[in-house]
Amino acid sequence: MEKTLIIIKPGAVQRGLIGEVLSRFEKKGLQVCGIKMIRFTEESVSEHYAHLSQKPFFNRIKRAMMISPVIVCCLQGVDAVRVVRHLVGATNGREALPGTVRGDFSMSVQENIVHASDSTDSAETELTRFFSPEELFDYDFNNRGFIYANNEF
Ligand code: UDP
Ligand code: MG
Repeated sequence: MEKTLIIIKPGAVQRGLIGEVLSRFEKKGLQVCGIKMIRFTEESVSEHYAHLSQKPFFNRIKRAMMISPVIVCCLQGVDAVRVVRHLVGATNGREALPGTVRGDFSMSVQENIVHASDSTDSAETELTRFFSPEELFDYDFNNRGFIYANNEF
């Protein structure tokens, strides 16, 4: 079982889409292993978007991520990193396919509703950044036998 991180961005919090976005992942069969509301600081958002530090939009995206609190959530499942990226869709909401979160709720590159870890390595780093070990829960997910065949997990 793989774990990944999503962040429901300020735009989605402001637009009242927290439940709608989360339910996409729940309905797919991903298990919520940790969830909380946090507010990014200059330090934590700079670390989170360090790979964009040379981009002209770096300061703009950092400001946008601090405008209101966000929801950070750990999702678990088989191939969770890839599955969640597929559900989220392309970075540009105008290009993201209908049926994806961004394709259905975003008209923007920046204001694209949700962040999702892009590799198993970044998922591990990002989960450690936002959650302490006791905030991530390992619990029976009793419908697993209906979500997967018994040779898939
Ligand atoms: N972003 C932006 N302008 C761009 C590219 C990205 O404002 O030209 C923002 C956008 O919110 C995106 C985030 O920076 O989600 C991180 O960019 P990344 O390339 O990692 O895209 P993602 O992994 O979120 O699809
Ligand atoms: Mg990214």
